[in-house]
Amino acid sequence: MDLSDTLKAIVDIARLKTSEKDIDIVLKLDEAIRFKVMADTTVINQIFLNLINNAIKFTEHGHIEISGALLEKTEDIAHLVFAVKDTGIGIPSKKLDAIFQQFNQGDSQTKLKYGGTGLGLAIVKRLVGGYHGEIDVESTVGHGSIFQFTLKLSICKNSKSSKDDYKIRTHTSCHALIVEDNPINQQY
Ligand code: ADP
Repeated sequence: MDLSDTLKAIVDIARLKTSEKDIDIVLKLDEAIRFKVMADTTVINQIFLNLINNAIKFTEHGHIEISGALLEKTEDIAHLVFAVKDTGIGIPSKKLDAIFQQFNQGDSQTKLKYGGTGLGLAIVKRLVGGYHGEIDVESTVGHGSIFQFTLKLSICKNSKSSKDDYKIRTHTSCHALIVEDNPINQQY
């Protein structure tokens, strides 16, 4: 996957969710991370969307900043650091350690007011761990939160641009058997 394309797509989805709120979403990617990596797009999407959806949920005004930078790069592995920063309600310091545990929702009023399951961050922590990464949070009540995490991803050596991929796909003749019982779907 191309990290910068994937993140731009995630941010576009997130922007749709902020249309009713007074929030700007900004993506700041270090030039140094514009390369392809071997990673499961579904997992990477899930990590970012869980964190960004929380940022949107707990922020009424201001901005959400998603950033990514390179910590270290060898020939095969990129060690990356990302952050999702918001200007929302923040998390009380005594609750910070517990929010990565399953079914933990920070404040007793949170479930009443915002709903949710208390599972999102526990899942994010496990997924980040799957890529040998760690996640941390810093937060100030009334000012906002920063969720920062690292990932170690294998660098894709065959780094064709997406344009090349497209050319190859359009010149390959493909045959597919599609089985569909609904006439409208058949036509589609
Ligand atoms: P939930 O489904 O309840 O949002 P999460 O595991 O994603 O579960 O989050 C756990 C708790 O951490 C939330 O209930 C909330 O109290 C707190 N939290 C998570 N992200 C933020 C954030 N960006 N700003 C403020 N509080 C947050």
